[in-house]
Amino acid sequence: MQNIAVFPGSFDPVTRGHESVIRRALPLFDKVVVAIGENSGKQEYFPVEQRLEWLRQTFIHDPKVEIRTYSGLTVHFCKQAGARFILRGLRTSADFEFERGIGQMNRDIEPGIETVFLLCDPEYTALSSSIVREIHRHGGEIRAFLPKAVKI
Ligand code: ADP
Repeated sequence: MQNIAVFPGSFDPVTRGHESVIRRALPLFDKVVVAIGENSGKQEYFPVEQRLEWLRQTFIHDPKVEIRTYSGLTVHFCKQAGARFILRGLRTSADFEFERGIGQMNRDIEPGIETVFLLCDPEYTALSSSIVREIHRHGGEIRAFLPKAVKI
């Protein structure tokens, strides 16, 4: 049986923090499915096609990474993708509290799926898509926060 992990998120936009977590997870799994959730209730900033394209550019040389979109519950998408693991990154204790609730509820709904957490690299603790959006909205340069492969 393959060890497949789903890394769900908005990736609005993908950042070097996301990229780092995904790359560090690659040796742990046979495949990592990076999945853009389309119904989180969050207002999108970059269109989903743009977010997909940036993720594709980032992992173009990584055959173990698959880029998808999904709607509905993450655990349902995991079952559909044949994944037994949900991958999430932790930056701060606030992330932990948030993730604890979701992770425990997900296990309640689907006990066969485990959430795996990776602590983020210290250099990316302050990096979030929401701050990157804020900088972009006001005309600031965001290239340094996006993966190097992203052509913007
Ligand atoms: P969501 O909308 O579900 O929070 P995000 O796209 O913001 O999705 O984040 C997806 C995942 O990446 C989450 O597990 C989040 O904690 C993690 N993440 C976000 N930013 C970073 C970062 N700078 N370093 C490590 N992990 C991060």
